[in-house]
Amino acid sequence: MSEIELFLADEAQTLALGTQLARLTAGHGLLFLQGDLGAGKTTLSRGIIQGLGHQGAVKSPTFTLVEPYVVGDLQLWHFDLYRLADPEELEFLGIRDYLADDDLCIIEWPQKGQGVLPEPDLHISIYTHQQGRRVVLTPYSTRAKNWCAAVAQ
Ligand code: ADP
Ligand code: MG
Repeated sequence: MSEIELFLADEAQTLALGTQLARLTAGHGLLFLQGDLGAGKTTLSRGIIQGLGHQGAVKSPTFTLVEPYVVGDLQLWHFDLYRLADPEELEFLGIRDYLADDDLCIIEWPQKGQGVLPEPDLHISIYTHQQGRRVVLTPYSTRAKNWCAAVAQ
């Protein structure tokens, strides 16, 4: 199973993909979300985080770089690296600790951390297409290949 491509017609479908990824990942793994401003990265993150059971809002961590969530036994981390000036800053942020326990890390703008971030389980690209979004899921790990196989069904 290599990359798969989906068309999401509206926000509800983006959130539904998030719900599906929540179930498949079960709150573990490293996800990269790439796409222009307004592509829907935070919307998809919201679908995942709320899909794992978070009841409150999911706001964009643009200024804080990272927003933590605790959901039951799960620790989730939502990063937005848009404002990261240098990938080296991730070392000061303690990125290795965030990634160490296989907690779910969702990273918007991963290209800002290139060279410091490891290869993800799953890379997600989002593009505006007509009134909706085109999404390309590229799995790197064995488990992410299984997630993609499930999404493709
Ligand atoms: P980003 O985090 O990539 O900057 P946001 O998720 O904050 O983007 O905003 C994306 C915008 O696109 C929101 O207004 C959302 O309602 C809308 N959106 C999300 N998914 C879709 C979709 N599949 N089709 C159309 N609009 C969408
Ligand atoms: Mg965002």
